[in-house]
Amino acid sequence: MTSSLPPDSVASGWLATVTRVAEACRMAGRDPGEVQILAAVKSQSVATVLAALRAGCRLIGHNRVQELAATVPGIHAAWAEPLEVHMIGALQSNKVNAALRYVDCVQSVDRMDLAVRLARAAVAQERVLDVFVQVNASFEASKGGVNPMTAVGFAAEVAGLEGLRLRGLMTIGANSPDPGVVRASLERMAQLSQALVASRAPATAQARELSMGMSGDLVAAVAAGATMVRIGTGIFGPRLP
Ligand SMILES: *Cc1c(COP(=O)(O)O)cnc(C)c1O
Repeated sequence: MTSSLPPDSVASGWLATVTRVAEACRMAGRDPGEVQILAAVKSQSVATVLAALRAGCRLIGHNRVQELAATVPGIHAAWAEPLEVHMIGALQSNKVNAALRYVDCVQSVDRMDLAVRLARAAVAQERVLDVFVQVNASFEASKGGVNPMTAVGFAAEVAGLEGLRLRGLMTIGANSPDPGVVRASLERMAQLSQALVASRAPATAQARELSMGMSGDLVAAVAAGATMVRIGTGIFGPRLP
């Protein structure tokens, strides 16, 4: 399941990504300090994740609870400096407690029963859990996320749950060869984010973050206002089949 990449290739992948994001910010007239880079570490070994951390990464995202359990303890054991761990994949409601052992933030909140379970678990543990609401901005049937039409209302409800701190919205951009279609899905997210912050619903004024942009569409995502890009291939190379 895990592969170990040469540390030098991970370090150069990280640096190339930092450079790409900085260049995307420059083109968009934005400050690179406004855009965080999350390393999407699906199927990477502890050694490979540590190579990314040593290169400068401080934010990682996992897709599966099983991989969190298999790698996060080893990562923390070897890494004493600051690190944020996010869940970026679909989360089954019955795995909430397992996930919370390992994560600081869940980006894939896309239904109320999941939000409520996360909130209850956080309250029971006397902590506040960071969350993003995932939106299906491309309306693709294969993707998770709430419908853009209902996203603002749903996010406002999530923001109001005790135990959760809503940081913003997350999406996977449209999977299309047409840059116009991709851009439209990303710009729709920017509009939803503005509508959420303007809604004046409790605890939404601070929910300004926008997690979108992957290796293939990070330039368009930064142009559309992303504050966090999630990069896998660009750092670690193509995934093994
Ligand atoms: C894998 C993954 C990414 C990174 O995708 P790349 O195209 O490899 O950069 C980002 N977000 C999510 C939710 C992912 O599963």
